Parts: sequence; structure tokens; C-alpha cells
Amino acid sequence: MSMLFSPAKIGTLQLRNRLVMTPMHLGYSPQGEVNDKLIEFYRARARGGVGLIVFGGCGIDRIGNGPGMTQLDDDYFIPGLRRLVEAVHAEGAKIVPQLYQAGRYAHSVLTGQPSVAPSPISSRLTRQTPEELTQEKINQVIDSFAKAAKRAQASGFDGVEILASAGYLISQFLSPVTNQRSDRYGGDLQARMTFGLEVVEAVRAAVGPDFPIIVRVAGNDFVPGSHTNTESRAFCQALEKKGVNALNVTGGWHETQVPQLTMNVPPGAYAYLAQGIKQAVSIPVFACNRINTPELAEEILQEGKADFIGMARPLLADPELPKKAMSGASDRIRPCIGCNQGCLDYVFQLKPVSCLVNAEAGREAELAELALKNPPAQNQQILVIGAGAAGLEFARVATLKGHKVTIWEESDKTGGQLALAAAPPGRQDFLYFGTYLANICQDLGVIIQYNVKATPEKILSAVQNGEFTRVVIATGARPITPLIKIEPGTQVLQAWDVLLGRQITGQNVIIVGGGAVGVDTALLLAESGTIDNQTLRFLLLQQAETDQEIYRLATQGSKKITVLEMGKGIGRDIGPSTRWSMLADLKRYRVNCLEDNKVLEIRADGVLVENAGEQRVIPADTVILAVGSCSQNELYTALQGKIESLSIIGDAAKPRKVLDAIHEAYAEGIK
Ligand code: SF4
Repeated sequence: MSMLFSPAKIGTLQLRNRLVMTPMHLGYSPQGEVNDKLIEFYRARARGGVGLIVFGGCGIDRIGNGPGMTQLDDDYFIPGLRRLVEAVHAEGAKIVPQLYQAGRYAHSVLTGQPSVAPSPISSRLTRQTPEELTQEKINQVIDSFAKAAKRAQASGFDGVEILASAGYLISQFLSPVTNQRSDRYGGDLQARMTFGLEVVEAVRAAVGPDFPIIVRVAGNDFVPGSHTNTESRAFCQALEKKGVNALNVTGGWHETQVPQLTMNVPPGAYAYLAQGIKQAVSIPVFACNRINTPELAEEILQEGKADFIGMARPLLADPELPKKAMSGASDRIRPCIGCNQGCLDYVFQLKPVSCLVNAEAGREAELAELALKNPPAQNQQILVIGAGAAGLEFARVATLKGHKVTIWEESDKTGGQLALAAAPPGRQDFLYFGTYLANICQDLGVIIQYNVKATPEKILSAVQNGEFTRVVIATGARPITPLIKIEPGTQVLQAWDVLLGRQITGQNVIIVGGGAVGVDTALLLAESGTIDNQTLRFLLLQQAETDQEIYRLATQGSKKITVLEMGKGIGRDIGPSTRWSMLADLKRYRVNCLEDNKVLEIRADGVLVENAGEQRVIPADTVILAVGSCSQNELYTALQGKIESLSIIGDAAKPRKVLDAIHEAYAEGIK
């Protein structure tokens, strides 16, 4: 019997299972309103079988809210909120809104007023200094929390969640780093808890004794000088005494230097934080962060680390995850790969959230309308050239539309350039997506023919013979070789060959190009010669070496690596939610990154560069080229005008991020 899919209660609230969709910023409510886009997004997740949805954050006021966030600060929003609740309830799930006040994390440029905080301490996120809250303003904020909770209750929600984690207002009061007040809200831990506890008291008074209240807490702030799990436990015990019904335990603040959500965070890494809280309280505890499979969720529950499992991005990636898991089809779940390309990176770019692996995410309403307008397509016989990510996604979608798809793949495997993206340490999740696409295509009856070299003549002949009525070119890209003089003597390799393990490098390596591929290659090579994970654990358990020595062994490899970038900034094409942690890794592994260095020549003894008008040779025994890629579009060019229905998708059309290739393939597939 699965624990994950067994019924459970939070206070008086009966839930059909223990899987909670934790809140995620979507940016779907430009005016703070509930609209069809939001309703259909959540309806799909409720229909997919999740037990509880924590919706939001929802702004409790206009000083501390975020862009595109649904608002709970006015009765005007209640009718829309009711529609959302009814849609979710109709699918058998429950829903609570998260009450959100960002404090010093609010951007005054976006809210139009100065942000507020316990103390005027500038935030790394906004680069602004907030105004210190007066007692009068504190009362107003607490009142706004209570009124928002009351509105949630009036809208039919099943409870509320209060946001007290991640460095937002309540955590700012809790932490000695951001709370330097000398009144009753500042001082020792007990005093710093006062604000959070007063919010809970006010919310409880507003909603009555039986309305479930969940609080989201940081299991560890991961900020120097701030709270660890020990202080968090004390706060959670105080929350329990105030009548809180459950605790949603997440990781650190947005300002932390410890990654929470990037692909290199081991799955389930932060479940221990929930476990620490669970040992201190008797109310239900949720574990979250990078719990991306039902199997892992089940294991965490079985091991007694938590009572509920929170997932957000995995349900963005596949709303049907619970149903698939319940029916024994876990291996057909479209996996969240932790790339952040469509979710967090879009939030940073103030764009409505989407998903790399799920082009339908956020478009549920629009697609339902489209399906109504468009009758099922005629059954075309489609030939796709290339079984990379774009070719497979196109084949999947086109087959679902009723077409018959055959793929000719030049190699003996599927996935194409996903193997490159998956090569650096901690990036293997890209491969899971490739496996998912290949499995689904197989289920759908897509014919994949391997080791087929497509030529214009062969394609034309197949079309003229009536085998195919439409051809889609998805041949990907190839790496560029720059036009620079290369003397014999130094080993010169393409980064793609190194990433794919096709070439061995020397010990003194220069990577030409500081974009994503250059950074990936540097990180892959930097790990060479470092201690392996098993030995690391052994040495830690035996306390055989000092912490400093363990760190040195884990970060000091055998190769000397230099990345040369001709412009400013390393990894400029990496998404903002991931780039900072990759740059930190480069530093940690002592990769020498040089900007503004133009490569003039590759010589027998190294690379001749020019910087600020000065030339010098940087010694190297291996030079790796990572200067970009170009489309492999020769087939398309040769066939243009000769085949009536011919198109080109993905990197074959233009090298871009994987998300763009997948979304383009989807758009072509549903035509
Ligand atoms: Fe997961 Fe990437 Fe989709 Fe975000 S964009 S939900 S991280 S797969």
C-alpha cells in the first residue's frame, strides 16, 4: 500500500492523498485577478490527482506583492477566487492560498512604493534598502494577513498557508541578520518570533478554530549568521502551540549561496530539514525541494522523514504525475529536470511561467479552445529527419493529432544534443527527458529507423513514391570551428567531442569560448582527479581527514583549466537561476576564467591572446573550441521548393536553448 496515495488529514481537512502541489510563482494574473488561464492550469493539476494545491503566493497587500501575482487584498477578487476553488474541488482536490508578503524582497520599481522590513538592511536581490516598519505599520501588515485569510475563507478555500520562509517578511523578522530592532520584535530568538506568531494569532482569530492553517518555514536559512534547523525547530514548536495545523518545510532564503532548485541539487537532498522539524512537533510536516519522482516521495514518507510531500515543478512538467504513479505508469511521467529554463528563469524575466519539457504548461485554457476550434487533423504520413529532442517532441505531438510519423535517425540512438547538455556533473536529468520522449514515441507507434543517412534524393524519392506527405527537418546543429590560425603541435578539440567522451584531453587545458558549452566543459574537466563520492563519504564517516582537507580533495582536480572569453561575462547565455551557481562552481574548482581575451592564434605551445592591446601566449597542451554552433540545414535548403509540405524545427532552424526547440516542435506538431 502506497503511503503517498493514502488519505490523510491536516487539522479538519481530509485529503485524498499526501501529495501537495507547493506554491510557485506563475505570473498569470497581470491585474491580480483570477482568470481562465489560472483556473485551467490548476484544474489540470487537480484532475491529475494531486491531494492538495497550495496556490500562490497571493498578495495580502500592495507593498509586499510580486508581479503577476493573484491578490487577496480586496473583496473584489472573491468571485474569481471562488471560480478557481470550484474548479479544483470539482476534480476532487483541495486548495489553500499562500499568504505572501515579501518585505525587503519586494521591488519598489514594481510595487510603486518603498519596500518594508523589520530593519533598513539592503537586500542583495533588489539592491534596495527597505523602510523600517513602525509599530503602526506592523499592525497594518498583521491586519492585512488576517483580512486576506478571511477573504480566502469567504472564497471557499480549504485553509490558508502563511509564508514564513525563503527570506520573505516573516523570516526577515525571525533572523538576526535582517532584524536588528530593539523593541519587542527584536533581540533574542523569542522576541524575533513575535511578529510571525502575532500573524498566526491574527489569522486564527479571523478564520476561527477549525480552519486549517499551514505555515511554510525554512528548514535552514543557509545564510551565514541566520537560522539553522535548530532555531527553525523552536519556531515550529511555537507555531504548533499557536494552533498551526501543518508545517511546509523548505530550504533556505533566496539570498543563500547554497543552491536549492538547480539540477545539481541531489533529488530529495533537503528532506532531512523536514525530518528535523518532524522530530520536534506532532503536527504534519511536508518535505519539499527537488523531490521529483513518486518513488522518492514514497521513500521519504516510508522512512518517516515527513508526513506529506510537496512538489511544484514536477507537476508543472506533468500534471498527470499522480494518476500515472497510481496506475503503475511512473516510467511514463514527463520528468521535471530541474533546468529552470521555463519556470524560475521566466520569473526573473517577468514572463508568465512555462516549462521546458511541457509546452502546454500555462496554455491549458488556450489549447482547450484551440482543440474545440480545430477538428482532428487529416491523417498525414510524416517523415521526420532526426531523433533529437525536437524531432521526438514533434513526433509525439503529431502522432497524438492523428498523423503517422516515421523518423530517420543517422545514429544508433535517440536524444541528439540532450547528451551534450547532460554531460557535465549534476546535469544527467536532461537524459531522463530524452528517455521519456523515446518511450512515449514508442508507445504511440512512432517508427524510428536508426542508422539511416538521409539525403535529398532519398527523401524526394520517398515522397514521390507516396510514402510521405510531409517532411520535417530536425537535424540539429554542429559546432563551429573559428577562423583562426592553428599551428601543428597542440591538441585542438571540439567541446562537443570532449563532453561526449569521444576525446581525452591533456592536463593543461584552454577552453576557447566562455558561453554555456565552455562552462559545461570546464566543469566536466574540473572534476577529473577529484575524490569520488564513495571515498568522500567513507572519509567523512571515519573522520579520517579535516573538513578543509576533504573540501580540497573534493574540489582540486588534476587538470589546470583556463576559459578564454573574448567579451565580458562568463556564461552569459546560461539562465539567471542557474548561472550564479555554475560560476560559483568554476571558482570552487579554481578554473581560471579570463574575459576580454581575444584568441589570435593557436600555437604549438599554447594560445596567443590579446587583452587591452597586449599580446601573450598562455601555455596549454590541449585547446578546446566552444565558440558556438550552426544549424545543420543543408537538407532543408536542398529540398526547398521540391516538397510541398516541408518544415524545419529546433536547432536545425536556429541554435537556441532546449526549451525553444521543444516549444517550436510542439507548435509545429499541433498544426
Ligand atoms: Fe522542471 Fe525545467 Fe520545467 Fe522548470 S522548466 S518545471 S525545472 S523541467
